[in-house]
Amino acid sequence: MKRRWLKILLIIFLLILVIALSLYIIYYVTEPVIELKGEQEMEVTLAEGYHEPGFEARYWFADLTEQVEVTSDLNDKKVGEYSVNYTVSFLEKTTSITRTVSVVDREPPVITLNQGETINILTNSKFEEPGWNAQDDSDGDVTEAVKTKGIVDTYNPGTYRISYSVSDSYGNEASIERTVVVDGEPEEGPKKVIYLTFDDGPSDNVTPEILEILKKYNVPATFFIIDYGQSEEKIALLKSAIAQGHTIGIHGYSHDYSTIYQSVPAFMENIETLGEKIRKDLNYEPFIIRFPGGSSNTVSKNYCEGVMSDLVSKVQEEGYYFTDWNVDSTDASGNGISAETLISSVKNNCSEDGYNIVLMHDSDAKQTTAEALPEIIEWAKKEGYTFAAMEKGGPTVHHSVNN
Ligand code: ZN
Repeated sequence: MKRRWLKILLIIFLLILVIALSLYIIYYVTEPVIELKGEQEMEVTLAEGYHEPGFEARYWFADLTEQVEVTSDLNDKKVGEYSVNYTVSFLEKTTSITRTVSVVDREPPVITLNQGETINILTNSKFEEPGWNAQDDSDGDVTEAVKTKGIVDTYNPGTYRISYSVSDSYGNEASIERTVVVDGEPEEGPKKVIYLTFDDGPSDNVTPEILEILKKYNVPATFFIIDYGQSEEKIALLKSAIAQGHTIGIHGYSHDYSTIYQSVPAFMENIETLGEKIRKDLNYEPFIIRFPGGSSNTVSKNYCEGVMSDLVSKVQEEGYYFTDWNVDSTDASGNGISAETLISSVKNNCSEDGYNIVLMHDSDAKQTTAEALPEIIEWAKKEGYTFAAMEKGGPTVHHSVNN
């Protein structure tokens, strides 16, 4: 009997020992648990902001959610990497867990155009950019960073497009377009002005001679140039032309019709290649082009049907004015055309009622153009004409496109 009781007591003792040991192990090995709702690595945009997705905490059967302490350096108004820390303690045991929150910007700036997206202006009037405003949710005012592209040639009625674009520091891009319609009763344009223009240079002999004559008579002019190779002399010549107040326009890196009129991209590449060279060598920003053969040429039809129709708007959308001519010196009709012929062509075709854009050439084959020039200038001055170089937003002439 006594032995039986001892046995029972021993079993009870052992049971208590096992239970105590188990509780001891459970206490030292287990901790409170925090479970996050939503992702542990979150990405939120500035626009939507951060909203706590919630959490739960417990220790075995005890709900500790209410006791969780949340601390954070999060600022969802500013792009960055942040942490949200969740901590809970129970019976001197502490558990922590961290949520990483990346605040990102996916919102492009907003560009607003003063005076709206469509403007109507009168032919021959002066186009003044009405300005714009651009605001970004992370960068603030980015008005100054907006880049514009495209020109408005008020001397030629039509529809022009200017594009405005800007990106914020996180690469979100915004762009908007303005349409400017030039039409209506024309305002009075410049009168009795002559714009002398020389294509196909610079040349070794004729260009320096022409520059000398222009200098002597103090007459500004415009040179629509082609590639001048690596020639230091020609670079110096062009620099001195700019210093004398002349305008440099782009005729084309190449003048070869079959190459340049193959396609719109081929043409654009041809003018951009020369444009880049001019910017680099001459530190000069070219703003005007003359199409080889003029915008009315039909030769381009042989290489690409309709290319001129696309090109006339394309070059303007890319930011270049273009001009043809309304007075032909006829020096392109052959080499060695007599100076007398050239002089009378200019004299007979210049008009006192408007502006005259005179087509001439300064390649080395055009010696007679240089010969004719002094008399043309003297005649014009005597008749009361003034001379000007092509300028941004100034008068141009557009032929009608034939391809
Ligand atoms: Zn030419």
